[in-house]
Amino acid sequence: MDETFLRRAIALSAEAAAAGDPPFGSLLVGPDGTVLAEERNTSVTDGDITAHPELKLARWAARELDRDVAAGTTMFTSCQPCGMCTGAIERSGLGRVVYALSGEQLSGLKSAEASALISEVPLRGPALYDEARVPVEAYYRR
Ligand SMILES: [Zn+2]
Repeated sequence: MDETFLRRAIALSAEAAAAGDPPFGSLLVGPDGTVLAEERNTSVTDGDITAHPELKLARWAARELDRDVAAGTTMFTSCQPCGMCTGAIERSGLGRVVYALSGEQLSGLKSAEASALISEVPLRGPALYDEARVPVEAYYRR
């Protein structure tokens, strides 16, 4: 059963590539095996670097599903979710993720130019704790 849904995710990845987008596809499946939603990458056609299928499905689930329903779902995806999507999936409360290609396998298949488009950014902080904590404390302690 897992392989059937993974093959659908791979078919969606091929659809994305055929449309000129990066080749990634995902679907969200309920506990009874019902396909709840499908997405494919549209980052080129939408001009949106965040238009990954996993992120779109996580946003959909957080908007449309009760938290206990989301916890019973499984995301099947053609490739291991990136850091951005993993964060969104964790916040959306989805139950589990099953993927075909690992991130490491993807890196091995990508060109050097494509890999160079993603770079780490320097992070500086923490700073101004006494000022920055005021709105945070007011929000979380109400
Ligand atoms: Zn992603």
